[in-house]
Amino acid sequence: MIHKLLRKVFKRVAKSPVFPEPARIPVNQHGIRRERISPAACKVCTTLQERGHQAYVVGGAVRDLLIDHTPKDYDIATSATPEEVRALFRRARIIGRRFKIVHVMSGAETIEVTTFRARHEAETDEHGRVLNDNVYGTLAEDASRRDFTINALYCDPSTETIIDFHHGVADLRQKTLRMIGEPRTRYREDPVRMLRAVRLAAKLGLIIDPTARAPIRAMAILLENVPTARLFDETLKLLMSGNAVRCIAQLRAEGLHHGLLPLLDIVLGQPDGERFIRLALENTDERVRANKRVSPGFLFAALLWPEVLKLWRARQANGAPTYPALFEALDQVLDTQARQLALTRRVASDIKEIWALQPRFDKRAGQAPHRLIEQPRFRAGWDFLKLRAESGELPGDLPEWWDRFAHAGHDEREEMLRAALNDGNVPVRKRRRRKRSATVTETPTPDAA
Ligand code: ATP
Ligand code: MG
Repeated sequence: MIHKLLRKVFKRVAKSPVFPEPARIPVNQHGIRRERISPAACKVCTTLQERGHQAYVVGGAVRDLLIDHTPKDYDIATSATPEEVRALFRRARIIGRRFKIVHVMSGAETIEVTTFRARHEAETDEHGRVLNDNVYGTLAEDASRRDFTINALYCDPSTETIIDFHHGVADLRQKTLRMIGEPRTRYREDPVRMLRAVRLAAKLGLIIDPTARAPIRAMAILLENVPTARLFDETLKLLMSGNAVRCIAQLRAEGLHHGLLPLLDIVLGQPDGERFIRLALENTDERVRANKRVSPGFLFAALLWPEVLKLWRARQANGAPTYPALFEALDQVLDTQARQLALTRRVASDIKEIWALQPRFDKRAGQAPHRLIEQPRFRAGWDFLKLRAESGELPGDLPEWWDRFAHAGHDEREEMLRAALNDGNVPVRKRRRRKRSATVTETPTPDAA
């Protein structure tokens, strides 16, 4: 009994790690003055500090400010519990299932406030993946459970000091992405860290430290155990980072693209598909960098298009009519992806709408073009058509024709339709087959608005 008790006590002592003193870097060395930090984030920190809690801006925001990037959003780490945080702010709510975080709303901004968490004694699955890390901890513990050294920097806006436990500032200066702790263990705890490594390295132009890079190829398989919804979120972040082209190149280099988009490796292996996907990703990167909207539906529609096109053509070659062939192809591709990627219903239906509009652009006669330009998704369908034309799949002047048609007055439209007819651009109407499969029954007719 006594032995058991002693063992328990010693085990606990032995388990609680000893943390070295962190570096405290003054503002004249790091240059992040209070004025550069979002006023809302500063306010949340000072409110918490006035009540006797510790509170720091942490993670991506500090990292980005250090290299003169504008932070996407602000995270705050505090010693206050989620309930204590919520009680201090008028517009605040606790969210999160895996671990509780508090969203504090201030104007248009949402500041994410997280209580210091510890890494040890977490519940894991049979692969070592952490299932529950809701154990609160100290500042030092919170720093050591973070993924990379550059993500574990704590900035106190009141004193303008950065607290650095893991030489993150030096790593950032040397453009190195270094894992905190033993990389294999950290990837086993959470395989998504492999994707984060690739995304952050591509986004910030960093070199992944060799010890963090080496195990990735062999451990990529662990991504299969990650819930698909989380994988989808992470893939989306990666693709919408404004550096999708670089991220994908890096993913391929690390052998990580297999688990993500199972069809991507097949598609990327085909010369036609590769060109189309590269154009789609370049187009997305440009839009993100210009602060334009990018819809996940459009992006996934593009990434999966070469596969749809291949199946569509194969079915047509076997005698299937245009629409049934397309709908069977797109259902097949979406079924595979929906399982792998947990595409939400909304995204899947956006993808389908964009694809289903495509054959309608071939029809430049009668009332069909008038109905097509009235479609709510005409613009997205047209953007997609443009990509297809740029990749060489369609005649280069088709998108321009539709753009002109959409903006033309009545007389000019009639004239354009007459000219298209004379040029022989109107497909000959085929007789519809009598017998139709189940998928085809749901398929709208080409002229249905
Ligand atoms: P971004 O610029 O994409 O927001 P970020 O590093 O801020 O990059 P977030 O997902 O916002 O990414 O995470 C905030 C912080 O939480 C990170 O900087 C890191 O300290 C910590 N973190 C996030 N994901 C993990 C993870 N999987 N394992 C350990 N720490 C993580
Ligand atoms: Mg962030």
